[in-house]
Parts: sequence; structure tokens; C-alpha cells
Amino acid sequence: MRPALLNPLFVPVRSLSGIGPKTGKLFDRLLADDQGEARIADLLFHLPHSTIDRRARPKIREAEPGSVVTLEVRVAEHRAPGGRHSKAPYRVIVEDETGDVELVFFLANHQWIERMLPLGETRWVSGKLELWEGHLQMVHPDRVLDAAGLAKLPPVEPVYGLTEGLFQRNVQKAVEGALNLLPPLPEWNDPEWMKARKFPSFDTALRSVHHPQNPQAIEPTSPARMRLAYDELLASQVALGLVRSRMRETRGRASVGDGRLAKRIIAALPFSLTPSQERSIEEIRADLSSDKGMLRLLQGDVGAGKTLVALLSMAHVVEAGRQAAMMAPTEILARQHYERLTPLAEAAGLRLGILTGRDKASERNRTLKALEAGEIDIAIGTHALFSENVVFRDLALVVIDEQHRFGVHQRLAIGRKGEAVDMLVMTATPIPRTLVLTYFGDMDTSTLREKPAGRSPIDTRALPLDRIDDVVNGLHRALANGQRIYWICPLVEESEQLDVAAAQDRFETLQQIFGDRVGLIHGKMKPREKDEAMARFQSGETQVLVSTTVVEVGVDVPEASIMVIEHAERFGLAQLHQLRGRVGRGSAKSSCLLLYRTPLGETAKARIEIMRQTEDGFLIAEEDLRLRGEGEVLGTRQSGMPGFRLAQPEVHGELLQAARDDARLIIARDPELTSPRGEALRVLLYLFGRDEAIGLMKAG
Ligand code: ADP
Ligand code: MG
Repeated sequence: MRPALLNPLFVPVRSLSGIGPKTGKLFDRLLADDQGEARIADLLFHLPHSTIDRRARPKIREAEPGSVVTLEVRVAEHRAPGGRHSKAPYRVIVEDETGDVELVFFLANHQWIERMLPLGETRWVSGKLELWEGHLQMVHPDRVLDAAGLAKLPPVEPVYGLTEGLFQRNVQKAVEGALNLLPPLPEWNDPEWMKARKFPSFDTALRSVHHPQNPQAIEPTSPARMRLAYDELLASQVALGLVRSRMRETRGRASVGDGRLAKRIIAALPFSLTPSQERSIEEIRADLSSDKGMLRLLQGDVGAGKTLVALLSMAHVVEAGRQAAMMAPTEILARQHYERLTPLAEAAGLRLGILTGRDKASERNRTLKALEAGEIDIAIGTHALFSENVVFRDLALVVIDEQHRFGVHQRLAIGRKGEAVDMLVMTATPIPRTLVLTYFGDMDTSTLREKPAGRSPIDTRALPLDRIDDVVNGLHRALANGQRIYWICPLVEESEQLDVAAAQDRFETLQQIFGDRVGLIHGKMKPREKDEAMARFQSGETQVLVSTTVVEVGVDVPEASIMVIEHAERFGLAQLHQLRGRVGRGSAKSSCLLLYRTPLGETAKARIEIMRQTEDGFLIAEEDLRLRGEGEVLGTRQSGMPGFRLAQPEVHGELLQAARDDARLIIARDPELTSPRGEALRVLLYLFGRDEAIGLMKAG
């Protein structure tokens, strides 16, 4: 149960006064995962990326062109453009005793200007001063204030990342509302450490970043930012540490296999293992054969061949007379694993079972009985595998196929429930080396770096959206050749404001052209409908599958050779890479078309360029990190660092080591988090959404 004092931070942003449903949606888009609702805590953790310093208050003669200044001036002259519909700007001359400045307003409301800048009065104007044809001018001052307004002007103004339709003042105002809800929280950091690092309290740190007194206050290395980053890192390290310590306490038995099943599986393969598959399997077998608990991460790009490594690992424990389970994030993926593994399992004499949330009751009962009796060696399924009534005769290994989600903590907690098993977590998100520790703490890792032989490179091209008709025309030939095509659209519903091509619309347009060969899959469909849509595409009954990214397009359809991504500029680099990985899985020549809306921003351009240059997921991940390290303005979290909001591993790496050491000490001294500091740490875990680890303590 979440500590009650945190409740105000977990109410939706849209409950703040002054935020209607429309703005509320924009905040959700800016701050919340997938389709969730943004909460107050999300808003508080949305830190300004820069500031506007309005403290410079020079006389006009001393003011520096190119800089932001706040000038005290007298309004000397209004020069309204002639004619109501004139395109000429409205100019206002303002002066002090040292010189004058021209204020320039394009397409301005005349009455508004007359009211804001009455002739002969004193006003304060704040904005960027420019030199134009020998004149000082300020185009659209950010602020025009009277004495009362000046008194309220923050000397340094925070600037936030936005999303289309949202403005700085919306975010600034909402943040004010959120800060008012921030309760005093118990201190979870060690006082000595705080003193040594000059850390302010959590509360003070957040306020000083949202109300910067100077531009340094928001720099990632300021004491406040360091403190907040440390808090986030500590939360994640404590959560990982709790998982680890449970792992050690409930140490497993050694599962020593003799290789007989693995040999049969390998003999049934039409190819040989890649060197990194060989190496990974060796590493995993060594762990399984020892009596210490295994907690290992298997990293490898989409298509790198992780599933086979998983199967051989599971076969190893079966050789030792024990059982294994493999959990996929979705029903579709679970079924796919089951179907793909069945022939190999049969060749080796392994007995597979499948368990999802939607099996028929009679089937389910049969499977449950067989699992308990040990008549199934390997169970494949969704998290239904770990519901309470599932009993294994002797479960030795759990493989968790994360795909590209980041719920490691949650999944670990599930997998650990009551069972003393080894864990293998597979992720298709290539994580830069520098970040593995951040995400996975002390986890051991195995990496599949090279792709299986026989894959041809994917031809990646970028085209402006107005060439979409050419793309559609090109599909005629592809379809005639029997090719299969994924067509990805970014959102489900048409939204007037955002001009996003909706999957439904795209489906209908394509259906008009290509008829029944077009299928559709999106997140609002019922699970069964999704399965059916997927099955039709797999069997070739449909050849074009229009899909939103809400659906994990994780299913392997080797025949798919064309990937079209609409509004590629809206996707992060990692996401583009994941999507592209859905093609190029067979030996056919594959292509990926990135359709973008013009004009392309600098970052989007850089992302698309990287996509065109390489298919190496690890390289792409490094580039992604570098692009983000350059402090660009990120609109949505989609392109941000998954899982972390305050810590920037490229800046706060040094704190990470300290957080690990701290977490270790905490868990050694107070493994149930019951001391006063332990209680405060529980608050920290909830605050950063790492609370699954708390449930794990009770279960242990
Ligand atoms: P991942 O789970 O890493 O995305 P998969 O395990 O689904 O990748 O493998 C993708 C495809 O590559 C599968 O069709 C699989 O049979 C094939 N594959 C796996 N290992 C090899 C290999 N060593 N050589 C050739 N093909 C392989
Ligand atoms: Mg896979």
C-alpha cells in the first residue's frame, strides 16, 4: 500500500484547477507512458531544460544586442501600419535617457498594443534585443509589464519541454499547482552523505529547480539536480538490490545437464549457432550448473536469435530432470514462441505446454495437472504462468522475454514469487554498455552482438509524406510478388490538432485500393481480434498489415519484407530501430520506408540519417544517447531515456556507484526496510514507481 502522504502526488494532472480535458490530454501526451494519465509526480519530475535570465536591467545604451534584457522605458511613439490589412508590423518607440528601442509587433491587435503600452507611461519590457539596420529593436517582447507586473516577474524563468499545442505558461502554471501539493517527506538519504555533497532536502531541491534563482540552479551538476538524480538512482538500486538479496537467500539447487537434449535440438537446426549464441549458452549453463542463483540478462537485437538460446538453456535444466517456464509480454508472443519451439521440442523429445489468460477451462485444467505432475517440461505463457494456482513439480528456470519493455523489476518480482528459480531476462533493447549497470544493477549479462548469417541488409529510405502516393503505387508490384508489408501509424484516433494519420483511416484508404489483402491491428481491438488479424497476416491471407505501435509488433513473420513507417519524425531512434527489425528476418531483400512530415527538425533529421546508415542496434543506442546528451529539447518521453526521468546516466554516472554502495549497505543492515530510514526509503520507492520490490519483501 502506498503511504498516504504520497497520495496528493498520484492524482492526475488534469485534476489541477485551470486544466481542462483538452489541456489535460496534452499533459498526458507529454508526461505519461503509452496511454496513461499524467500524475502530479510526473509533472514535478518534468524539469526545465533551460532558463531565460531576465536579471540584466541595463540602460539602453549599455544593453548588449543579442542578449535578453529587461528595460525600464517610457513609451515615446506609436507607429501603427496604414490600413487594417497591412502586413507591415506595428512599431512602438520606447526610450530612456540614454537611447531608444523599437518594439516590433507583427499581425498585432492594435487595441491590445495601445492598452499595454500607453503613450508617455513607464513600462518594463523584457525580451531579446537585436540590432537591425543600425537600430536597436525587440521583436515581440516576451513581457510588457507595469510596476505591479514587474514585482511578480521571476528573475530567472524556467523553460520546459513541450508537446504540440502546449505552451510554456501552461506548464509553468501547472507546475506551480503541483508544487503547492508537495507534502513534506521524510528524509531517506544519509545525513553525512547529504552534508558531504551539499544536498538540499527533496522538497527544497524540487522547488529550487522549478524556481531557479540563477541559470546554474538547473544545470545537471547543481546540488539540487544531483540530489534528485541520486534519489532516482538510489530508488532503482535499492529495488534491484532487494531482488538480488531475495535471489541469494533462496538459493537454488544446481541443475547439471548432460547435453543430450541440446545435442538433439542442435542436430534438428538447419543452421549452426553464431559464435555469440555459443558463448551465451556456455555462460548460462555454467550459472545453471552452479548452486548459486542465476540472474542474467540476455541482450540482443531483434532477430539476433535469443529464443534459441532460451530453448537450449531450458533444455539444460530439463536434462537435469527439472522444469522451465518462459514468459512473454503478450498473448500473441507467447503463442508464437510456442509454435516456433514445438518442432524443435518434438525433435528433442521435450514436452511443451502453453498457459495464457485465455485458455479454455478444460484445457487449462489439463495443463495445470500436467505441470504439477511434471508431465510438461517447458511451460510457455504470459504472466498467467505465475498466478497462484499454477504449481510446478520442480521449476528450475524462468525465462522472461521482455522484448523492448522495461518492467524488469516487476517481472522479477513476479517470477520470484514463492519459487526458488534461476532467472534469465531477455531484452531486445540494445543498451549502451555504460547504461547496463544503471538499468540492471549487478545482473550478469550475455550479449548477442552479431546477426545470424544469411540476412541481407535492409534498404532504408526516407521520403517526405507528400510522396505517399508513390509509395502506395509501389506496393502494387510488391503485392503481385507475394511480399508482405507492415504499415505503421503513430496513433489510433484522428486528432484535428495533431494531424496524425490514423491507422483506421489508412486502413480504409489502402483497403479501397488493395481490397481484402489489407488487415488492421490496433490497441483498441479485443485480444481475440488482434490474434486473428495477426494470424491472417502470418498465413498470408492479408498481405498488408496496418498497425499502430500500441500493438507490440513483436511477432515474427519472416515473409514480411517491407516496413512503412508514417510520421517517422514522431518516433525515437530506439523505437524506429525496433520497428525496422520486424523485416529482414528472412533471406529476401527487405526495405524500410520512413515517411516524414516536412520540415524536419534537426534531431529528427539526425535520427533518420542514423537509421539510414546502420542496422547495428548497439551503435544506434549509443548515437541515441549522444543525441540526447546534446541537450536538445525533447517533446515527449517517447524519445527520452526509458525508465529514468531525473538521472542522466551520461552526467550522473559517478552517483550511480555511490547509489549502488548505499543500496548494498541499506539492504545488509535493514533488509526489511523497517528502521526509520527504511520507512523513508519505502516512500522513495513508491515515489519513483519501484514499489514492486516492496511486495517482494513480504512474499519472501
Ligand atoms: P530474437 O528473439 O532475438 O528477436 P529469434 O530468436 O526470434 O530472434 O530469431 C530470429 C530468427 O532467426 C528465427 O527464425 C530463428 O530461427 C533464426 N535463427 C536463430 N539463430 C540462428 C542462427 N544461428 N543462424 C540462422 N538463423 C538463426
Ligand atoms: Mg524474440
